[in-house]
Amino acid sequence: MPHAYHSTLLSSLAWLDHAFQPAGEPPPPESIMNRQRHTANVLLSSEALPVKSHEADGLIATDSRPVAVYTADCLPVLIADVRQKQVAAVHAGLNGALKGVLIQAIHRLCERGATPDSLYLAVGPAIGPCCYELGEDRIAAMRQENPHDLRPLLAYSMQQYRNPLAIRAQAIGTTQGVWFDLPLLAKRMAMRAGVPEAQIELSGICTYCMAEEQASYRRNGHFQHGYQQRYAWIRQR
Ligand SMILES: [Zn+2]
Repeated sequence: MPHAYHSTLLSSLAWLDHAFQPAGEPPPPESIMNRQRHTANVLLSSEALPVKSHEADGLIATDSRPVAVYTADCLPVLIADVRQKQVAAVHAGLNGALKGVLIQAIHRLCERGATPDSLYLAVGPAIGPCCYELGEDRIAAMRQENPHDLRPLLAYSMQQYRNPLAIRAQAIGTTQGVWFDLPLLAKRMAMRAGVPEAQIELSGICTYCMAEEQASYRRNGHFQHGYQQRYAWIRQR
């Protein structure tokens, strides 16, 4: 049975618990979740009940019940605010990230008394630049539309990065496109919002070539072996 991944940064904060769980393992029973739709909507957990009744992709906890997101290549981001002792969970796939869900989560935390330098972000396992190919038309559209002025933060390479930590074959390019680095985009977005670099941790785990077999939506698209959601959650103690 694969183990959950824990962020070193968040583990250093004694007032919270968190985990990035392997595929198929259910979240803690009291967890609050949204119906995720790649939106920029961020709710307080008190606004989000009953569980999965709202379409949103970010959740800020208002009590000690865990807030959770589910992913299968998209980026799970767990956030702690050490000033007000708030926690948040964000589902940021590429579309949600471009719509601004992470920006909105940081903004909403700051409305509630956080400051950018009081935030700690753990960016969990997601499809990495070693396996995430995007067509050139997609990149061109992103650059043209430039949502939230993100163009200077887009991170991609024409050459596929060979991942020395891969435990299975990396994705094979099919579109002569680019290799996109979604975790790095998230990091750059948080830094632009004022979060210190030392308070942002990337897991470095690619769901396609490094995590358990069921972890990747895209890999399932290539091999039809099935996939299961991975849950990431965080709670105040
Ligand atoms: Zn990979």
